Amino acid sequence: MRLSRRRAIQIGAGAVIAAAIPVGQHIAWGTRDYRRSDYSPDYPDPPAGEDSWVNWSGIEKATPRSIDLPDSEDAVAELLRGTRSRVRPMGSGHSFTGLVPSEGIMVDVSKLSGLVSYDGTTGLATFGAGTRLFQAAMELAELGRAFPNLPDIDVQTLAGSFATATHGTGTNLTALHDYVAGFRIVTASGDVLDVSSETNADFFAAGKVSLGALGIVTQYTLQTVPAFNLHRVLRAEPIEDVLDRAEALADQHRNFEFFYLPGTGIAATLTHDQHEGPMTGAAPSEDDETLEGLKQLRDEFGWWPWLRRRIAQSALPSGVLEDVSDQSWRLLSTTRPIKFNEMEYHLPRENGVETLRQIISMIDRRKDAYFPMEVRFVAPDNAWLSPFNEGPCLSIAIHAAVDEPYDYFFSDFEPVHRANGGRPHWGKIHSLGPAELTDLYTDYDRFLELRREMDPDGRFLNPYLAKLFGESFDV
Ligand SMILES: Cc1cc2nc3c(=O)[nH]c(=O)nc-3n(C[C@H](O)[C@H](O)[C@H](O)COP(=O)(O)OP(=O)(O)OC[C@H]3O[C@@H](n4cnc5c(N)ncnc54)[C@H](O)[C@@H]3O)c2cc1C
Repeated sequence: MRLSRRRAIQIGAGAVIAAAIPVGQHIAWGTRDYRRSDYSPDYPDPPAGEDSWVNWSGIEKATPRSIDLPDSEDAVAELLRGTRSRVRPMGSGHSFTGLVPSEGIMVDVSKLSGLVSYDGTTGLATFGAGTRLFQAAMELAELGRAFPNLPDIDVQTLAGSFATATHGTGTNLTALHDYVAGFRIVTASGDVLDVSSETNADFFAAGKVSLGALGIVTQYTLQTVPAFNLHRVLRAEPIEDVLDRAEALADQHRNFEFFYLPGTGIAATLTHDQHEGPMTGAAPSEDDETLEGLKQLRDEFGWWPWLRRRIAQSALPSGVLEDVSDQSWRLLSTTRPIKFNEMEYHLPRENGVETLRQIISMIDRRKDAYFPMEVRFVAPDNAWLSPFNEGPCLSIAIHAAVDEPYDYFFSDFEPVHRANGGRPHWGKIHSLGPAELTDLYTDYDRFLELRREMDPDGRFLNPYLAKLFGESFDV
């Protein structure tokens, strides 16, 4: 989320208003401890000769026997043929769920990286599966090509993004795995398969969003589009106005999303539309300062909700905050310098805005919430485990600072998403198991069957996946 640099300063100025509040009460609010008691950002201590791994946010940790770094498809095949150990492929570790950790072998695919080939007639580009999104986007830009869309950040690997159905926003824009035209995968037995809708339609539909449970993907062939430029406008507006117009705004703009700032009644809307004229270039991200300001507002006034809202509304500016244009890949993804944990549910679009109203009124009642919520729109596709395969979705993401509790995501918010037909993001925290997932996904059982066929000994399982698939797991 991007708001102007002035924002944090102005929220700080709001603190002056606090002078009117009795000093004792003010100190009591401002010195509350919001930290999670079990919070530790450290890597775990591995036994001698073993390795240590932690995900981006620090909630997932492992001490694998080894972290292997194969530099070719042959090396991946050799590794799988040469061990009976459990194996988990890993991307850049940006998932919040336990998909990656293993006490066996973790396979870092970052050396399987870069553009392998490009066909100028079809626009099909083949990349190593460990290529980071930004690297692929830059290489495509040099060829005059682009991805139709990108997520909030672009440091994830292609394999990691596709495996969890990572998405951006746009009524007519599908999640990233929908760009996949084919992939090469090394199976549990060390065989290499070349998969496309022509060679094996079922495996293709299952393998695009695979949770890394079917094998280790080494290459993806992707459908790209001609490079394009975008015009971005960021505005601060009352949330009620945004909710009333959300559907129309989503249909009107190529990319539309918004962030709700808890406890303030204010939303930041972000639109991107195709742009042909001269370009201003992107502005540097100021998310960290904005978040500091929102945290300060929560710390000082969270226990006095009406005052928090009033200060926010008088201190935060409204209207256009940013108006820039640049190449698509430079604008669609930014950075997230301040770490958080996240739950995101994808709601059938027809239930989306109503669910969102409930979620917003709940988050406004939580005095401790301050991290902005993110709301996006995603078009349908047909991968078996794509959360978007039943129709268009509205996605609602809630965040908590990395060192603060998030248990209320499960107790308060998840039941609302569930009651409204929501499906969780595979890479973000949720509590669903096989019973719920079989109800939610027509092809869940089919996926489980194919997984068993591909990996009868469960070599790609870890405790988290075993639970998700209803399988037993002995170390
Ligand atoms: C700051 C931040 C911002 C984010 N923004 C967005 C967003 O805008 N939209 C969105 O949808 N999500 C978003 N996410 C979630 C993120 O995109 C996903 O969790 C994604 O899976 C992370 O990719 P990764 O490369 O880190 O993969 P990892 O998290 O390392 O792995 C993810 C999955 O991919 C599998 N995998 C990795 N490599 C292979 C391989 N070679 N073969 C087979 N399987 C493999 C792993 O086993 C695992 O199951 C965000 C996460 C963070 C931390």
